[in-house]
Amino acid sequence: MQKLLASVLLLLSISLTTQAQQPEKLNASEIHQSVKKLNFLGSVLYLAAHPDDENTRLISYMANHVKARTAYLSLTRGDGGQNLIGPEIRELLGVIRTQELLAARRTDGGEQRFTRANDFGYSKHPDETLEIWNKDEVLNDVVLAIRQFKPDIIINRFDHRSPGTTHGHHTSSAMLSVEAFDLANDKNAYPDQVKQYGTWQPQREFFNTSWWFYGSQEKFDEADKTNLLSFDIGVYYPTLGLSNNEIAALASSQHLCQGFGRLSQRGSQTEYIELIKGDLPKDKNNIFDGINTTWTRVKGGKKIEAILKTIENNFNFENPSAHLSQLLEARQLIANIDNPQWKTQKIKEINRIIEACAGLYLEASASAPTASTGQTIDVTIEALNRSNANITLDSYSILNNKINTTKYGKPLNYNNKQQIKEQLTISTKLQPTAPYWLNKKGSLGMYTVDDKNLIGKPETPRAITVDFNLNINGFAFTLKKDLIYRYSKPDKGELYRPFEIIPEASAKIDQKVIIFENDQQKEIPVTVKAGKDNLEGFVTLAYPNGWSVYPEKQNISIANKGQEQTLVFTVIPPKNQNEGLLSPIVTIGNKTYTRELVEIDYEHIPFQTVLLPSESKIVRLDIQKRGNNIAYIEGAGDVVPESLKQIGYNVMVLKPEDITAERLSAFDAVVVGIRAYNIVETLKFKQDLLFDFVKNGGNMIVQYNTNRRLKTDQIAPYDLKLSRDRVTDENAEVKLLAPKHEILNFPNTITTKDFEGWTQERGLYFPNQWAPQFTPILSMHDKNETAKTGSLLVAKHGKGHYIYTGLSFFREFPAGVSGAYRLFANMLSIGKNNINNDNGLKH
Ligand SMILES: [Zn+2]
Repeated sequence: MQKLLASVLLLLSISLTTQAQQPEKLNASEIHQSVKKLNFLGSVLYLAAHPDDENTRLISYMANHVKARTAYLSLTRGDGGQNLIGPEIRELLGVIRTQELLAARRTDGGEQRFTRANDFGYSKHPDETLEIWNKDEVLNDVVLAIRQFKPDIIINRFDHRSPGTTHGHHTSSAMLSVEAFDLANDKNAYPDQVKQYGTWQPQREFFNTSWWFYGSQEKFDEADKTNLLSFDIGVYYPTLGLSNNEIAALASSQHLCQGFGRLSQRGSQTEYIELIKGDLPKDKNNIFDGINTTWTRVKGGKKIEAILKTIENNFNFENPSAHLSQLLEARQLIANIDNPQWKTQKIKEINRIIEACAGLYLEASASAPTASTGQTIDVTIEALNRSNANITLDSYSILNNKINTTKYGKPLNYNNKQQIKEQLTISTKLQPTAPYWLNKKGSLGMYTVDDKNLIGKPETPRAITVDFNLNINGFAFTLKKDLIYRYSKPDKGELYRPFEIIPEASAKIDQKVIIFENDQQKEIPVTVKAGKDNLEGFVTLAYPNGWSVYPEKQNISIANKGQEQTLVFTVIPPKNQNEGLLSPIVTIGNKTYTRELVEIDYEHIPFQTVLLPSESKIVRLDIQKRGNNIAYIEGAGDVVPESLKQIGYNVMVLKPEDITAERLSAFDAVVVGIRAYNIVETLKFKQDLLFDFVKNGGNMIVQYNTNRRLKTDQIAPYDLKLSRDRVTDENAEVKLLAPKHEILNFPNTITTKDFEGWTQERGLYFPNQWAPQFTPILSMHDKNETAKTGSLLVAKHGKGHYIYTGLSFFREFPAGVSGAYRLFANMLSIGKNNINNDNGLKH
């Protein structure tokens, strides 16, 4: 499927580059398509909150059928979701999703933009969202996007008028868009931007509605459609051999980490948009009706149009280079128009067309994929002209902190490759390659970006680029290429990746949270990776007060770049509950390195290098526990078993088909993983065995399930009804409803202090109805909501206990939240008050 997708993409290449970093190679149909696009002067900005919110059918329709310049502004990079293809979560997931959006845009022909807003997790209401995001900063960024991109039309994915009906990020995106529509033209709003980009008034704003927002297809059919425009987004593009909806499916199938790989669709399909600002077009199928989208839109455009329309209408598919002199003439005229917006955009477009028409191949490749500053690499510059045009490579310039230009002055004769070898010492003034939005620690809701010029950009611009200064038929012409690394693999063929600058040394501790369940020391391995040959230096650890580390310092000596050396440090916790950060510091000469180098390597996106602060949370828990052996029945996947092992439990993953009475009798408790009753079919046949295990004195803990598509309605031995109640504020006050209950007192005394420092949320899908056998233990709620008392329910069943909990232990454990561990230890220990078990007992 991967391979198929890749080859389809190669054929498609409507885009700036094809698969991952492959250089773009336009064929005649694609050049013709680009000429048609060059002759359309109109733009659409699509706006939503997350990677995958965007309607690729509509984006592709606007980019390829209407031929408008089209961009998707995703307010966030999707850090908050789950990853179905690998271990990366949070900011690393945001890096993958950023690249998946770029891959989607390479497929559907759109451009990609972002704001500084962080996807901090689920939020019920835009009020909450806009409190956690810095509303003013996000609005600043939306206004900036409008002033930079200058769209004629804005389309919102979501409805700004229905807060509370969908994710708070969704509604917020639409609300901010509506506000920004007017602010962008107000010179008093964000005046610093005005100096640089001017003001801008989009003509129209729409909401990308569908029957879904009306509740049902019937209701939508009956609804008043006066303000609605509709398009057949199933149009077929014969020159591409694809339907628009097929392109759309290929684009959204780039969202692989979200499991969006999907079947393509073909045939007529109607898409609706509802006017919310601006004038209603007379032609209800033409979003640009009444807006001039021809070259006459700009002063001096008539002459340009005359030339370019001739090319469009008489395109020479056999020999596109026949159009070079006309294109160069048009380019000269475009360079003289006084409209900076269209000048910049159209010069970019026509450069790409001229390059393709001339069959130019220009590449600068490095002899290694990475290097650290101060190192020298070989660079091969390749220039090839595959047309009869008169082309000279006058000079080339390498941007490496400052521009170094080398005079060349040789003609590029037809199909006669010029190869130039250069040595390049990476400037010590350059920063290592890394996503710019992660360079500084942000807040829960926002990334911190110091360089204002980077705000909105999808990724960090490459530090090293090569300008090819050409002369084509007498016209001076510069084309810019990023420095790349080109290699091959026997089972993959030719591959490209961006050239990256890495630090001399990086260090990491594998475990991001290390729990000390008693005062015993632990051996912690620290791995140092060399970014250059012959790395010599030493490593120390920074650690919180009260802790000790031995030895203080260890030497490193690594012969080759890319190699690693692992050093083991002994970490001794304090006597009492305490937590802090453990951070390796690598000293090389007079420089110190404190970051971890993370590499992200998937076939559908370019290779990524991310630098994160190298640190692990160390937690000395004051915890006692009873019981020892735990069976874990896996659900949708969580790290709860590893976390329970960290506090000293003996955890065995029990496959549902292996559940028997004898097997269960070996365990003190059974814990069921998140959403197990939503996805594990077999469990419904094992419930009786599990409930018997409880009757005989075992404990059973069931973590959250969603209330839709449950595989059984018997998830508990007594009646229990799941709801959509959730508490998303991780700091929501927790009241102890049953303070005397064993679960809050044995073996650990749980107080409200144990609910401090929770992360992302309290919990989700709490039951809202239950049999009298259950005791609700806790009460909590989000702002302006009623108390939710179903987060932790305990029922005695025979000699054991059944516990249902929607509390998000699966989020709190990996974050090292001590109170979550202490409460869970009590849940596992309940009823074992008189069993003498040394395990976990201390002092
Ligand atoms: Zn979303």
